[in-house]
Amino acid sequence: MAEQNRPVIHWYRRDLRVADNSSLACAASDSLCLIPVYFLSEWRDFHAWTGPKRQHFLCGCLASLAGNLETLGTRLLIRQGDAVEGLRALILESGAMAVHFNADPDPFGKRVEESVRAMCAGLGVACHSHADVSLHGPDEVLTQSGQPYRVYTPYSRNWLGLEKLAPIRKPRALTTPAGLKSLPLPTVKHWGWDVPMADLPEPGERAARDRLKRAVAGKIQAYAQKRDFPAENGTSRISQDLRFGLISIRTVYAEAMNARATANPAGRAGIDIFIKELAWREFYFAILHHFPHVLNEEFNADWRGLPWDEPGPFFDAWKEGRTGFPIVDAGMRELLATGFMHNRVRMITAMFLTKDLHIDWKQGESHFMQHLLDGEIASNNGGWQWSAGTGADAAPYFRIQNPWSQTARYDPDGRYIKRWIPELVDVHSARFLEPPKDGRSIAPGYPAPCIDHKTERERTLEIFKRHREKKPR
Ligand SMILES: Cc1cc2nc3c(=O)[nH]c(=O)nc-3n(C[C@H](O)[C@H](O)[C@H](O)COP(=O)(O)OP(=O)(O)OC[C@H]3O[C@@H](n4cnc5c(N)ncnc54)[C@H](O)[C@@H]3O)c2cc1C
Repeated sequence: MAEQNRPVIHWYRRDLRVADNSSLACAASDSLCLIPVYFLSEWRDFHAWTGPKRQHFLCGCLASLAGNLETLGTRLLIRQGDAVEGLRALILESGAMAVHFNADPDPFGKRVEESVRAMCAGLGVACHSHADVSLHGPDEVLTQSGQPYRVYTPYSRNWLGLEKLAPIRKPRALTTPAGLKSLPLPTVKHWGWDVPMADLPEPGERAARDRLKRAVAGKIQAYAQKRDFPAENGTSRISQDLRFGLISIRTVYAEAMNARATANPAGRAGIDIFIKELAWREFYFAILHHFPHVLNEEFNADWRGLPWDEPGPFFDAWKEGRTGFPIVDAGMRELLATGFMHNRVRMITAMFLTKDLHIDWKQGESHFMQHLLDGEIASNNGGWQWSAGTGADAAPYFRIQNPWSQTARYDPDGRYIKRWIPELVDVHSARFLEPPKDGRSIAPGYPAPCIDHKTERERTLEIFKRHREKKPR
């Protein structure tokens, strides 16, 4: 076969789009004969970090991707099982001359990449890994002495000052060799689930672009005023799209900057804060890259070995939204119903688990990973360790948010709480702002607060203080 007609493989992973895709564009510039392939993993028996909502969304994204690839003249192959063996078989079947993929930001993905590289080298086939998931890789944003940052603000200052890559053109007029077998597009039944899911956002690249357009046209310009109020629809809602690579971070940045160019001063201020949130995402990628032990233990060595309580019935109440703290329960119920929780409420619920119930942040981290559509290992770990006070640039342990005063500040009229807790619809919102004086339930069918915040706050302060005193220096 002439070299230019030999196929190349693009291994789809968390980059489920055709537009502005580094690996896909490079693969297509190697050869117009392309084999795009996705491997359905068999994580169910050994991986507790995903769940039916994220897999359901994934299925929709794959269906949409298959349609988009067809319009380019190529065909998505769905295969199953170990990616290394699957790619080996596909290379041998197709005579492919190269494998391209976008590099993964987490240690699990990186480990598979190493095996893929070794397998390709063994077969004498080129293997190309592309940087795609972030605007700046972890080794691009370092201190003057070449060390990774441990604190966000200097990291973000450096990050903001670096030149950003522009979006990449999508390939045109591709083909795929005939005769290569593919499984049908999957549904969640593939992983043994059959659950109706009504409240998920529309999957796929077009829907993600529409969400980004809406965010850029208005929401991110009012971001400074609205982003912290969960009842407002004041954030971009693109996190699942970045997680699944339905849009590229280059496109997000470019569109935000385009909007900034014509925005008024208030709009520009909102967009600047929004862009700094994108830098938080990359800060946590960098933390995970340079300090992969954060997946197993506290970033801050001072807080390793804290005496957490066993997760008993209070943990179940937290997961199910039955703690008797309306703002906490609303967040946990939003998560169960939609696979999303507002950032402010993520912080409140995470601090409640760790500082009021004294339950290990790793338990909460895992629960969030099972339910969040945007479940991103680095950001989730970072958010949890921030809330527990154990992470890089975390909230200091003694700054413990009070769920009642957080409600007064961020959901004063109880609109968010009433949206997610039907039992409380007829209760006056003033009752959500402080604990019931008699300690009893505020509505039929709704539990009384499971703990007293003031008492548990004192206990947390004591636990952290004693732990620090005990630690050898
Ligand atoms: C305990 C906890 C767990 C979290 N788990 C995740 C997770 O698994 N996946 C995830 O994407 N985000 C996580 N976050 C961060 C944040 O809550 C979400 O990114 C945000 O709520 C997504 O909504 P949005 O797209 O409307 O965000 P916007 O406010 O519109 O922000 C735009 C984008 O910036 C990024 N971003 C914003 N805030 C943060 C942040 N604090 N850390 C990292 N990236 C950020 C996200 O990619 C987001 O889509 C977590 C935060 C906490 C406190």
